Amino acid sequence: MDFDFQHCIRCTICVENCPVYRVNPEFPGPKQAGPDTERFRCDDEKSLDKWIRLCSQCKRCEVSCPYGVSPAELILKEQIRYGTRHLMPLTSRIFARTYSFGLLASFIAPLVNKALSLKVIRRMLPLMGISPGAPLPEFRFWTLKRSWRRKGSRKAVKKVFFFYGCFLNYNRPDIGRNIRDLLASLGLRVVMPKQYCCGLPALGNSDFEKARRYAERNARILVEYIDKGYDILYACTSCGLTLTRDYPGILKAPEGKKIAENTYNIHEYLLKLIDEEGLEIDFKPLEKTVAYHIPCHLKALGIGYPAAKLLDKIPGLHCTVLDDACCGLAGSYGFKYKNRTTASRLGEIAAAAIKEVHPDVLIADCGACRMQLEHFSDIQAKDPLEILMASLNPEPGGK
Ligand code: SF4
Ligand code: SF4
Ligand code: SF4
Repeated sequence: MDFDFQHCIRCTICVENCPVYRVNPEFPGPKQAGPDTERFRCDDEKSLDKWIRLCSQCKRCEVSCPYGVSPAELILKEQIRYGTRHLMPLTSRIFARTYSFGLLASFIAPLVNKALSLKVIRRMLPLMGISPGAPLPEFRFWTLKRSWRRKGSRKAVKKVFFFYGCFLNYNRPDIGRNIRDLLASLGLRVVMPKQYCCGLPALGNSDFEKARRYAERNARILVEYIDKGYDILYACTSCGLTLTRDYPGILKAPEGKKIAENTYNIHEYLLKLIDEEGLEIDFKPLEKTVAYHIPCHLKALGIGYPAAKLLDKIPGLHCTVLDDACCGLAGSYGFKYKNRTTASRLGEIAAAAIKEVHPDVLIADCGACRMQLEHFSDIQAKDPLEILMASLNPEPGGK
């Protein structure tokens, strides 16, 4: 992590780009929460900046700073320090353990889904610090972890490790299985070995030690496969950002760099295969208007919008890229009762931009964005890969 804040010239460009500052007057914005206050912070003093926890870690300030300052990193460091020196709220404890709770919920999925749909249960959510208005995901017993973990010929030229992340594993394994089948149908050897949460929910809830434990467990598995010639692919942009940007700092070992250098966004990887390896994909026409909401963490990855480039190859498809708004959910941020007003205001702003396009469907590479935007716009939300699959019409994914 680069904490050099001395280059800040106080231009306030980051403030203009901060979604939370836009809707929540209690948050002083990335400039003040980041470089301005950093000058006065002492390592041995207890952090008093309670408002530091209002930052959603969307990283939009970082992308916008023309002077290479990283306000979001400075704020994250302070959020972690705040978390270690104050009693962690129950919600932060719950969301830092998304992986363990997801595992538990998947075993009794029908029961959990029924309970979460009951009004009386939803009314009790604020007691745990959870917003009753937030769109809650459904859980599946038949997770990706419990599915076939390999597909494609052993002799395939390209071997890929699909890092699917918690959302596709516990909540939308159907999309994960279809992605696995799509990649196999394009001639890749796909594996989905045992894997853990990338660690982002723990980081976002100030539990650095838990994030590091997840990173270390994943690193052992990922490096073993990289050494066997596998490339790592991710579909969730937040997992991707954690693997490529945070792992080198968290692991502080050559493994972190190795993972970062061998990890790719799925769309970026397919474009690479088309451009460099001559992969031919037979896109069939699809008459659709699509609004593409760009997740903040895709913006922060700095790889452009590879899914949009792929979708551009589908005859008849009209895709409008919307990269100006954050959906407001920001991982676990928008699920918290204390952030409910900020999250819903941001959700409404993003949904209004989508509605202006009058799309048949909206897409986003982040499961959280999709839930939130479907909730606020009433427009069906899909992963970009589902649109690609609709154009290619591969066999639907089995178990
Ligand atoms: S952090 Fe960057 S964008 Fe923000 S005020 Fe400083 S120089 Fe400007
Ligand atoms: S990470 Fe996002 S919410 Fe936090 S200060 Fe930066 S722009 Fe604002
Ligand atoms: S949920 Fe999506 S849009 Fe919202 S902050 Fe996260 S990545 Fe950005």
